[in-house]
Amino acid sequence: MAMDYAEIVKEVGSLRAPPNLDDYERTRREWSWDRVRADLGLRDDFVNQAYQCIDRHVYDGRGEKTAMIWEGADGAIERYTFEDMRRQTNRFANVLRKLGVRKADRVFIFADRIPELYFALFGVLKVGAIGAPLFSAFGPEPVAERVKRAEGMMIITTPALLPKVNAIRGDLPSLKHVMVIGHRAAVTAAEGDLDYGALMAEASDEFEIERTGAEDWSIMHFTSGTTGLPKGAAHVHGAVVGHYATGKYALDLHPDDVFWCTADPGWVTGTSYGMFAPWSNGVTQVIYEGGFGATRWYDIIQRHRVTVWYTAPTAIRMLMKGGSRIAKQRDLSSLRYMMSVGEPLAPAGVVWGVEAIGLPFHDNWWQTETGAVMITNFPALPIRPGSMGLAFPGIEAAIIDDEFQEITQPMQEGQLALRPGGPSMFRTYWQDEERYNSRFKGGWYLTGDRAKRDADGYFWFIGRDDDVINTAGHLVGPFEVESALIAHPAVAEAGVIGKPDAMAMEIVKAFVALKDGYEPSEELRRELIGHARQRLGPGVAPREIEFVSSLPKTRSGKIMRRLLKARELGLPEGDTSTLEED
Ligand code: ATP
Ligand code: MG
Repeated sequence: MAMDYAEIVKEVGSLRAPPNLDDYERTRREWSWDRVRADLGLRDDFVNQAYQCIDRHVYDGRGEKTAMIWEGADGAIERYTFEDMRRQTNRFANVLRKLGVRKADRVFIFADRIPELYFALFGVLKVGAIGAPLFSAFGPEPVAERVKRAEGMMIITTPALLPKVNAIRGDLPSLKHVMVIGHRAAVTAAEGDLDYGALMAEASDEFEIERTGAEDWSIMHFTSGTTGLPKGAAHVHGAVVGHYATGKYALDLHPDDVFWCTADPGWVTGTSYGMFAPWSNGVTQVIYEGGFGATRWYDIIQRHRVTVWYTAPTAIRMLMKGGSRIAKQRDLSSLRYMMSVGEPLAPAGVVWGVEAIGLPFHDNWWQTETGAVMITNFPALPIRPGSMGLAFPGIEAAIIDDEFQEITQPMQEGQLALRPGGPSMFRTYWQDEERYNSRFKGGWYLTGDRAKRDADGYFWFIGRDDDVINTAGHLVGPFEVESALIAHPAVAEAGVIGKPDAMAMEIVKAFVALKDGYEPSEELRRELIGHARQRLGPGVAPREIEFVSSLPKTRSGKIMRRLLKARELGLPEGDTSTLEED
């Protein structure tokens, strides 16, 4: 079932701006990264992400435009212009330089989403150091492990998180400074710690940005840890070319947009799309300090007249779980374009967007390693619900076999691979060159995901390499089974694994969380198995269903199938540093 976005938009009458990319084939044919560089005004060797996202707009006469609309968890609303951002980040950069922070030093930022987090990160980029943001809900252990791995020289944190840093700082020989940032609160630093307020007050708001080049390090992100130990993917300043281009053509950002990305900067979506893509495009964005809450989220869209919204399947599933009533009571008519990333988005999620909000969610695919969107459903093209979309112009994506040969026949399953190169791709796994090299084979970058491509070039996700199930001679992707289960009205979430079996090698087992108002029962279990069989056939439908109250997820919201499996088999759970505790 292809969904014609143009038709839907006509119906809801909200196509306020023609899409930036109106002819996919032509744009792809004529694509040139050099032209994007020229668009950004990149003429000589100087490329700095902070300059591109902030200072450039001030010099181009957009200094008074709002860069950030910040909404605090307590309801406070603050606005910062690009000029405010320039001054604050300059001050921060001066502070860092005075402390002796230099090019390529690793500076960790372990903070809640307060404005100072954003000043700090761009300050780090201005001195040419490497920013390494960490999700604030991490406990001391995961913080210590990551700081050690990257030999971090500084941690910037908030008063509430400082005790976690204090618990581990003795173990971190590379650590020279701890700085405490806070918002509106007086910050008392421990003896020997740096007091942000005092340092900023005496710093100048003029700063000469480090002359970084396209290949100089900028940011390091640890992956979500869905499949194992998180890896520190390191990126370079030149990545901003990819952020800008995907912001313009995949997110379809226009100058008067109000953009909202719900991801935390502790994960790559929260920096690539919660900072670099909107701001390199000079677009105003909303930053909300708090976490998920259906009513609050709809209020934010209504209050700030959000036009473009980027969120994740886990949030969409939670919104769906609550039903469409609250959405319908709000005025969400400002919205023009909605996207989802991070996990497969079931067709039911795409369609629910239309039902509840009047617009479909556009799925797109990328990874911490790729740094920017690689495959996406575009606004100008029909959505194929359940598909991740088409390769972004300038990106060559393919399905390859075990010999690293491209599979050109449509709908044949294989590994999703990309041609190496491109501005936003990671340049290493920090301190793990061997693992980095192992991702490149036969002239391809191996994504570790399995997928197929249809005759029109749309990619369909099957599962991660490690999650694919081998049952009685078929290979079954968990996503297909989960999507079928989610299509049943009682099911809120499903996680599917292969359970070892003497006869079939593995059998398909599903863990199912129900929507509000449904109770587990033997009858419902049978009904779900019947429902899945009808859609998938008996070879692919789950043989076993277990009801659970919730599924284990990473803090970035992804279902951790490896943990479901380990628990099922009574095996060690492996690295759980990114597991979200209920
Ligand atoms: P780790 O590499 O530590 O196991 P992770 O792969 O979950 O964690 P991320 O880089 O945050 O870390 O996630 C990228 C992965 O998320 C992709 O490789 C893919 O498996 C999944 N993913 C992202 N977007 C989509 C999508 N639209 N559809 C299906 N899967 C997606
Ligand atoms: Mg991964």
